[in-house]
Amino acid sequence: MRSGSAKWNSIISEGGGVRKVGIFGGTFDPIHQGHMVIAEQVADTLGLRRVIFVPGGVPPHKPPTSVKASAEDRLSMVEAAVADNDDFVVDRVEIDSGRPMYSVETVPLVKDRYEGDEWYFITGADEVSNLLSWREPDNLLAQTAMVAATRPGYDISNLDHLAEALENFEKIVPVECTRVEISATRIRRRLVEGKSVRYLVPDGVFEIIHDRGLYGASVVREDRRSEEKLSGSKET
Ligand code: ATP
Repeated sequence: MRSGSAKWNSIISEGGGVRKVGIFGGTFDPIHQGHMVIAEQVADTLGLRRVIFVPGGVPPHKPPTSVKASAEDRLSMVEAAVADNDDFVVDRVEIDSGRPMYSVETVPLVKDRYEGDEWYFITGADEVSNLLSWREPDNLLAQTAMVAATRPGYDISNLDHLAEALENFEKIVPVECTRVEISATRIRRRLVEGKSVRYLVPDGVFEIIHDRGLYGASVVREDRRSEEKLSGSKET
């Protein structure tokens, strides 16, 4: 799953065509179906050959205490989420750096590690509308197009203020995606309240959350799952 994995190398040898690649950064605390849907739909709409998920270590714009799961736990969850999709890979460059990293620093490092001709940095449209608060936004846009994943009916004029401020504004590409009202914050809250998050996160992520008792989740389900598997295997 790391850079240079067999999964990734398999496309390097594929011949012909412009290789469009997406970079999807996030805290992923935890990764959820909202993330998976935009990765899939942006890749489908733009014809991306691969999406590289880059879980952040310590986000520069948030206090360290705002990140609830460890970097390794968040990484494991992202790896589990993409495991059944050969077009999705995970890169640990930010996690390994062990320090806050800005996207303008991360993007060139990722581009150095993978083959690609056209690069797209994937973000939610609401995040893109805050682009002026990011570090060196014009420099970032010089290195990669930026996808603003919008919900249907999103008023694109919400991004108008960027047009005057950014030389490379035209490198922002809105892509309409199905609206999925899930946030990591709400998932963590549900877990603290003892509520189910099954189907809000990919199955493998659900298992890790309960196996490791992340976000205050009960670990009881691990035993239940084992019992279910055992009783299931007896029947076959
Ligand atoms: P939190 O609730 O902790 O702020 P989050 O759910 O927004 O987390 P992040 O890891 O911060 O998750 O998000 C990574 C990227 O995914 C951001 O660009 C964000 O805008 C986008 N994103 C997150 N959730 C959704 C969603 N449900 N639909 C579309 N984009 C999303």
